Amino acid sequence: MKILVANLGSTSFKYRLFDLGDPAEPVLARGAIDRIGSPSSKVVVKTARGESETSKTVADHGDAVQICLDQLTDPEIGVLADPSEVSAIGFKAVHARNLTGVQIVDDEVLEAMEAFNDVAPAHNPPYVKAMRGLRERFPGLPLVAAFETGFHRTIPEASQRYGIPEEWATKLGVRKWGFHGASHRYISWRIAELMGRKDLKVVSCHLGGSSSLAAIRDGASIACSLGMSPQTGLPHNNRVGDFDVFALPVLLRETGKSLEEVLDVLANHSGLKGLCGANDLRDIETAAQAGDPRAKLALDYFVASIRHYLGAFLLELGGADAIVFTGGIGENSSLIREQTLRDLSWFGIELDPALNASGPVERRVSREGSRVQVWTVPANEELVVARQSQALLQSGRKSSD
Ligand code: ADP
Repeated sequence: MKILVANLGSTSFKYRLFDLGDPAEPVLARGAIDRIGSPSSKVVVKTARGESETSKTVADHGDAVQICLDQLTDPEIGVLADPSEVSAIGFKAVHARNLTGVQIVDDEVLEAMEAFNDVAPAHNPPYVKAMRGLRERFPGLPLVAAFETGFHRTIPEASQRYGIPEEWATKLGVRKWGFHGASHRYISWRIAELMGRKDLKVVSCHLGGSSSLAAIRDGASIACSLGMSPQTGLPHNNRVGDFDVFALPVLLRETGKSLEEVLDVLANHSGLKGLCGANDLRDIETAAQAGDPRAKLALDYFVASIRHYLGAFLLELGGADAIVFTGGIGENSSLIREQTLRDLSWFGIELDPALNASGPVERRVSREGSRVQVWTVPANEELVVARQSQALLQSGRKSSD
């Protein structure tokens, strides 16, 4: 079965075409289109038969998918005889009210996503808009939404709740949903392969533009640092992370801003950027090394927050077999890994300084003999979405866990 996995930004479209019948080389093609809606977009595609880069006017995401299907059936570099070979487009969807798992996108799913537009303001609006356009333009092509919250539905009920009135949780969906499900799920699969067993206790550390930790036992999530929205938990590049809602009345009163304006600051100008003015960790590390106290504070705050959740999750799991770092920061920043895991030999966690400093992207970075193994693993989130989409289509159902 061939599944196109799409990654949407408000003005961008990236895709990979998976052939899940071929375990050796499941990716048949990949491509990207940027600046959708502007006069000129860069359109790139790469297949086993060749690659091309052109400039075009791309009006909307429907146009982008049409260009992608044309590329995939191109006589010179294409990999499909006919666009109908694509069984579905799979999406890593973020959030919907009282709806999770893997879903065939229909009006009900789109309405549930729309109902949480303000909970996931960076993600839901562009996905809903693009999905509506694609349904109209390609009515025979199923769209599958694999929700980021799905992996975390195995978390015990008590750890999914806030201390709020019952109905707010059950009717309104105000609960700790957890996110980054595709990434944490991939880590659970891959670390089981790397360590040769499935009965593992793992802390998965997804550190990137947005960041979260998940505690995973025997392949199932039992805790996640993200809550009701992707703005909680660890500080993110520009999103606040954990925050006390009773600061809101003070902020509204003292700044004269509206609730929407304050939420915009918390969702777009806070986190690491709020603390030090920069949101790219490479810039923050450079500035901290040059002695900038705000950059040092942002790094220290980030590390303290990771250690806070790591400690809680190690206790929750009753120890760990592995700690896995993924995401742009998790894979690349030896400094963050070293500071996060400093002085933890009592817990059986010992980094190997040379392995931590450099090596292939996927590698063990703990010392030989460290009771808890530490790894860096790049997550293949698209493969997770492709497999989930395939499983749903094969089941013949409209939704699955
Ligand atoms: P997203 O969550 O948006 O997909 P990524 O997972 O790509 O983002 O992570 C982006 C983050 O990774 C940025 O903050 C960037 O600074 C950081 N990063 C990338 N390379 C390095 C590096 N070599 N050292 C430190 N941080 C890095």
